[in-house]
Amino acid sequence: MITRALDTLGAERRLGTTVTALDDRAVHLADGSTLAARTIVWTVGVRASPLTAQIPAPRDALGRIAVDRQLRVRGVEGVYAAGDTAAAPAEDDHTVTQSCRHAIPLGKVAGHNAAAGLLGLPAADFAPDPYRTCLDLGAAGAVATAGRDRRLREGPEGFAKGLKRAINETWLSPPIDDPDELLRRADHRVGRRPSAPPPA
Ligand SMILES: Cc1cc2nc3c(=O)[nH]c(=O)nc-3n(C[C@H](O)[C@H](O)[C@H](O)COP(=O)(O)OP(=O)(O)OC[C@H]3O[C@@H](n4cnc5c(N)ncnc54)[C@H](O)[C@@H]3O)c2cc1C
Repeated sequence: MITRALDTLGAERRLGTTVTALDDRAVHLADGSTLAARTIVWTVGVRASPLTAQIPAPRDALGRIAVDRQLRVRGVEGVYAAGDTAAAPAEDDHTVTQSCRHAIPLGKVAGHNAAAGLLGLPAADFAPDPYRTCLDLGAAGAVATAGRDRRLREGPEGFAKGLKRAINETWLSPPIDDPDELLRRADHRVGRRPSAPPPA
């Protein structure tokens, strides 16, 4: 679907090569070719903040700190990690991804557990929702997948585009300015969707 969308949009791919240099007129590739360009958009992935190097704990290839199910940094008493800095266990043998869908509940659980630790209350386990993605493809639509093997989710015409709009416009934003609602949504038992029912 993505390949078809790129073809529809006239986006050319150069696969099996890497960028070796950029200058103010071109991108230079390892296969010896160059692409004339005055504007270059660089989208080569994310890494954990370099501040993680100050925590004396094991880190993965992305610089993320190893944490247990309750988001305690392994081997460092009283320190929790969340979001893009945490290599937290997720479903099966996977760790979380550096994405909003994991960062938001990780932040809630880590905050809850840091407070619970100080108050002598029980800690909560981090248990992410089933893994799903939703990718906007611009004028070519959108694609929604389920599972780590990214199985295509079927739906009515425009389903994935509508889902992406709902994520960006309703679930993640707009920001709220209501202390009670902020506290309600910060509860790790409350889901991402604003309409999710309050915890039992
Ligand atoms: C361009 C882009 C597009 C993305 N699109 C998506 C998407 O469509 N879907 C999705 O699921 N995820 C997306 N992500 C990933 C998602 O934004 C991150 O996974 C998520 O924001 C991580 O949350 P976080 O709280 O761990 O870190 P952040 O949101 O990065 O927050 C960290 C905060 O710490 C602050 N900070 C850093 N250093 C210090 C310091 N020394 N002192 C004080 N404060 C500091 C930073 O300013 C920042 O405010 C995208 C990321 C990028 C960059």
